[in-house]
Amino acid sequence: TATQERRGFEAEVSRLLHLMVHSVYSDREIFLRELVSNASDACDKLRYEAITAPDLLSNGTELAIAITADPKAGTLTIADTGIGMDREDLIANLGTIARSGTAAFLDRLSGDKSKDLSLIGQFGVGFYSSFMVADKVRVISRKAGTDQAYQWESDGEGSYIIDEAEKAGHGTEIILHLKDDAKDFLERPWLERTLRKYSDHIAVPISLKVCGTEKEGETDKAETVNSGSALWTRPKSELSDDDYTEFYRHVAHSPEEPALVIHTKAEGVISYSALLFVPGQRPLDLFDPSRKPRVKLYVKRVFITDDTEELLPGYLRFLKGVVDSEDLALNISREMLQNNPVVARIRKAVTNKVLSEIEKRANKDKDAYEKIWEAFGPVLKEGLYEDAGRRDTLLKLSRFKSTHGDAWVSLADYIGRMKDNQKAIYYVTGTDAEAVKRSPQLEGFRARDVEVLLLSDPVDDFWLSAISEFDGKPFKSVTRGGSDLKDLSNGENNTSDEAKSAEDDTEDMVALSALLKGILGDQVADVRASDRLTETAACLVADDNGLDMHLERILRQHNQ
Ligand code: ADP
Ligand code: MG
Repeated sequence: TATQERRGFEAEVSRLLHLMVHSVYSDREIFLRELVSNASDACDKLRYEAITAPDLLSNGTELAIAITADPKAGTLTIADTGIGMDREDLIANLGTIARSGTAAFLDRLSGDKSKDLSLIGQFGVGFYSSFMVADKVRVISRKAGTDQAYQWESDGEGSYIIDEAEKAGHGTEIILHLKDDAKDFLERPWLERTLRKYSDHIAVPISLKVCGTEKEGETDKAETVNSGSALWTRPKSELSDDDYTEFYRHVAHSPEEPALVIHTKAEGVISYSALLFVPGQRPLDLFDPSRKPRVKLYVKRVFITDDTEELLPGYLRFLKGVVDSEDLALNISREMLQNNPVVARIRKAVTNKVLSEIEKRANKDKDAYEKIWEAFGPVLKEGLYEDAGRRDTLLKLSRFKSTHGDAWVSLADYIGRMKDNQKAIYYVTGTDAEAVKRSPQLEGFRARDVEVLLLSDPVDDFWLSAISEFDGKPFKSVTRGGSDLKDLSNGENNTSDEAKSAEDDTEDMVALSALLKGILGDQVADVRASDRLTETAACLVADDNGLDMHLERILRQHNQ
C-alpha cells in the first residue's frame, strides 16, 4: 500500500539480530521476560502521563498485560494497554539500539559465536531477543492520545516493514510467529511456570490464555498469573531470593544475579521505601562520563522517572532499583525534582542506608565484599573527594592492593601492620597496576618490610590530593623526596654494614652527584644519595614540597 515502507535496520541492530536469528542460545526462554518487562514499562509510562493528562486513561481501559498462546496458528502474543508507539517511536525504538552501554557491548562482539552469545547473556538484548524464538515478529501499536495505529513487521534479516494498521484502544501487541523448534513455548504449563517465575513482581495484572485448551462447553479463559502488587511494598518476610533476583533483572535490564539486595522502608519525618541492588557485574559503560544514576523514582507506587541525578550521589551510580516516596506530590514534574528539599532528604537517608548495608556486607562476608569492591571500588572512591561528609565511612570501605601479598587490604589492616617508628601510610600511584608494582621507588621500602599501597585507578590521585590522613596517619607518596627511610631502618641493619658502607661511600657520592648535576643541568633540581633503592642505580623523585610525580604527569596531560 501507499503507506507501507520498508526500512533497513541500523548496522548495529543487524549485527545483533543476525546473532539472535542464528543463535543456539540455551537460555532463549528469556524472551518472555524481556517482552513482559517492556509491557510493564509501557504501563508505567502511561500511568505517569495520565497524571497530567487524565484523558489518556479516561476510556476506562485498565493497565494490564495479556498473553495469548495459539498453538494452531503457532503464535504467542504479548499485549499491553500501555503508552503505545507511533510510527516515529517504532522506527526509533525497534530499529536502533539506544540503550546505554550498547556501543561498548557491540565493540566487544568478536564474531566468535559462543563468546558473543555469552556476552549477550551479560548484556540482555531486550526486544530483539524475540528473534531467538520467532522467525517473524509483528508489532501492532497505538500511542495513547492518538487515533492511528501502526504495525512493524520483520523476519530479523536486515530490514523491517512499517505500515498503518487497525487497533482498538491504546497499547501494543507483539505477535511472535514461533520457529518450529520453539513451539514448546506455547504450552500452558511452561507459560504458567515461566510467567510466575519471571513476572510475579510486575505491578500490573498479567493474564494468560491458551486457545483450544478449554474444557467441553467452555470458551477460552484468561487467568491471572501474577500477584500484581509492587514488590517493594511487600514485607521482606514474604519475599524469596528468587523474587528479588527477578525484580532486579526487570529493573536493571540485566540477566544476572545482584551482588547485594537492599530493601528498606522508612516511616516518620520522611516516608519512603527503597529496593536497591548492587549489580553482580560491572556494566560496560560504568566510566562513560555521560552515564547517570539510573534508579527509578516512584511516588506512591506511580513511576515518575528513571532519569534523575538528584536521588543518589554520582559515586553510587552503579546501583539499580526503585525508590518510592510517600511525601512527594504525584504530579511532580521531572524538573521540579531539582533542588527539591524532600528529594534531598531522601537522598541523604538512602545514601546512608546503602553505605551501611555495604559496610555490613564488608564485615560479614569478606569474599563477597571484595567482589563488589573489584567491580565498583573505582567508582566508590570518587566519593572520597566528592562527599567530604562521608569520607571516613568511604575510607573504611576502601580496599587496596599493597606490597604485602596479593590480597585486598583495608586501611585498618595497613595500620595494624605499621612499623613501630612508622608515621605515615605510604602509597605509590601510577596508571598501570603491574608497572606500579615494579616501581624502583619501592625497593627501599620492600627491603625494610614497610608496606606500601599500590594505587593504579585514575581517581586515586584525585582523592589523595583531597585527603590528608586516616585515623591520624598522613598519606605519603613514596616518590616525595627526602623520604623517611632512615627512620624506618630497623636498628640492627642500620648500625652494622649499611651504615658503615654508607660512610665509605660518602666521598664518592659527593663527586658523583656533582658530576651528574653538571650533565643534567636544569632538568633536575638536585641529585642526592638515597636510601630508597636497593637494586636500581637511580630513580626520579618529587620534591618534598612539590607535587607527587604521577599527579604532576596527569596535570601536565591536561595542560594545567
Ligand atoms: P529497553 O527495554 O532496555 O529500553 P528494549 O529492546 O527491550 O530495550 O526495548 C526498546 C524500546 O522499545 C523500549 O525502550 C521502548 O521505548 C520500546 N518498547 C518496547 N516494547 C514496548 C511496548 N510494549 N510498549 C511501548 N514501547 C515499547
Ligand atoms: Mg526492555
